[in-house]
Amino acid sequence: MTTIINIAIDGPAGAGKSTVAKLVAEHLSYLYIDTGAMYRTLAYAAIQHKVDVQDGSALKALLDTITIQLINEEEGTKVFVNDQDVTTDIRTAEVNQYVPQVASHEAVRLEMVERQRKLAMEGNSILDGRDIGTHVLPDAKLKVFLTASVDVRAERRHEEQIKKGMPSNVEELKKEIAKRDELDSTRAVAPLRKASDAVELDTTSLSIADVVDAIIDLVKRPVL
Ligand code: C5P
Repeated sequence: MTTIINIAIDGPAGAGKSTVAKLVAEHLSYLYIDTGAMYRTLAYAAIQHKVDVQDGSALKALLDTITIQLINEEEGTKVFVNDQDVTTDIRTAEVNQYVPQVASHEAVRLEMVERQRKLAMEGNSILDGRDIGTHVLPDAKLKVFLTASVDVRAERRHEEQIKKGMPSNVEELKKEIAKRDELDSTRAVAPLRKASDAVELDTTSLSIADVVDAIIDLVKRPVL
């Protein structure tokens, strides 16, 4: 039996997790699983179906009716809900605002974690999120916790949005990112935390390539 290797990358909004995770996954030929996209998809579906984001059981009932597919392509992960392409719809300011509330409910998280673990069992994989090292994959071979100052994270998001041709305001992004961090870190269920055995990398003054190289070195380090 071959052993499946999992890597967990956690950290606050805009720390570069998805960009870095995707590049490391490509380099190692691992699967890349964007767990934030799954919570975003449910938030988007809740807005569409007018489901109250404070109502955990209604959200769980909605989640039970939807399939979420993550398909990795050259340009990034494409996200489908029941075969509808929602890749850009899940990145709006409205979804950013509602997603932490959607992700705060235990019933929602239990189901998401189950789906994420199933995906992680499909092969060697890198998962990025908030609770991968602490809850989803406590036995991951490597856990990385990426951080960066709020200013730098907002600037990076701003550049990404502009590149994608989406509207963007850096001051609004700073507020939104700080608010989301606060909600994600203070929720009762599986809050954003560095796992005690995670390696913390502050990416404030590192390039994407530096971070990717550092993680690949960590993956290859000999097990003592
Ligand atoms: O990673 P991303 O910024 O796309 O995540 C969107 C939101 O989904 C986070 O702000 C958080 O509320 C939620 N999330 C979570 N647990 C994860 C991944 C994301 O609660 N593992």
